[in-house]
Amino acid sequence: MKIILFGPPGAGKGTQAQFIKDKYNVEHISTGDVLREAVKNKTEVGMLAKSYMDKGELVPDEVVVKIISEKVSNLDNKGFMLDGFPRTITQANALNDVLGELNLDIDAVILLKVDDEEVIKRILNRQKIEKREDDNEDVVRNRLKVYREQTSPLKKFYDEKGLLREVVGIGEISEISGRIQEILDNYV
Ligand code: AMP
Repeated sequence: MKIILFGPPGAGKGTQAQFIKDKYNVEHISTGDVLREAVKNKTEVGMLAKSYMDKGELVPDEVVVKIISEKVSNLDNKGFMLDGFPRTITQANALNDVLGELNLDIDAVILLKVDDEEVIKRILNRQKIEKREDDNEDVVRNRLKVYREQTSPLKKFYDEKGLLREVVGIGEISEISGRIQEILDNYV
């Protein structure tokens, strides 16, 4: 199973990614997690990424494309779930190229749909627990703007390829997982 999980910040991607990983035994590849780890370890990529992440901007395409290409190429045909990648049309095209070279196809793209006000409420809540630096209100609003402008065009991109599956991201966590499972069971 090879899937992409996307949606606005705070849509619950991380939570549902954990469910999908446990249920279907796929490799979970999260660009946000990889970048946060790089920031923590103060690597060259981490230092560069931090300046963008702190403002809620996207890290340059070439940086994330390189990270993901290496990860996907090293998977040895194991199923995977991309979480937080691609986030731009440029990244989506680069992913197509990488997968093409490996002779792999994406099975489905899950879009977790949550409205802006719910997103802000959830993220401010998360900030109290996880203390992520990019979870303050101004940065969140910018992340939402970036999502609208740069990431939401992926919806049409994947819809035209017949891959888009929309899931309402509001409700109990288990309820949302159930909606995802209904879709993904078709690809087992
Ligand atoms: P996330 O944990 O997915 O919300 O990502 C946190 C931050 O990491 C984002 O606000 C971006 O600054 C950066 N980031 C994560 N994934 C990407 C990506 N695919 N392209 C560019 N920047 C990214």
